[in-house]
Amino acid sequence: MGYIYANVATCQYKTDYFDPQNQNVKRFKCDRYAIDNKEVCLFPDKTFLQDKKYPDNIQKAADVFTSFIRDKISDRNYDRIECIGYHIPDIAIHEKFTKPVFFIQCEFQETDFSESLFSAKTCFSESLFSATRFL
Ligand SMILES: [Zn+2]
Repeated sequence: MGYIYANVATCQYKTDYFDPQNQNVKRFKCDRYAIDNKEVCLFPDKTFLQDKKYPDNIQKAADVFTSFIRDKISDRNYDRIECIGYHIPDIAIHEKFTKPVFFIQCEFQETDFSESLFSAKTCFSESLFSATRFL
């Protein structure tokens, strides 16, 4: 038998954004795996959360986003958390953000940050909010 073929395509999402920490324009290239049959991962995908054929996508996005945030908080290789161009689902986020966190060009659904603690620099620039709670 040959080898097993797996879809390990990398997300093709790229965007330029203003880095508020270094005060310069940067190119963001996503390093996550793309969703099957798509060129991007679930975070920048505009249709993922709205896809009525897959109602589980909202929960899936919430789970993936929560573990993404937790990994970045605990991983010493990251001195900051960057969410660039993400579509953030309806979730309550209960985290202590001890590192700078940047949500840039993000679209938030009914995201609830009221149980979160931001103890480092936090930036929400060029982002859209529908019913996001901070307090
Ligand atoms: Zn991506």
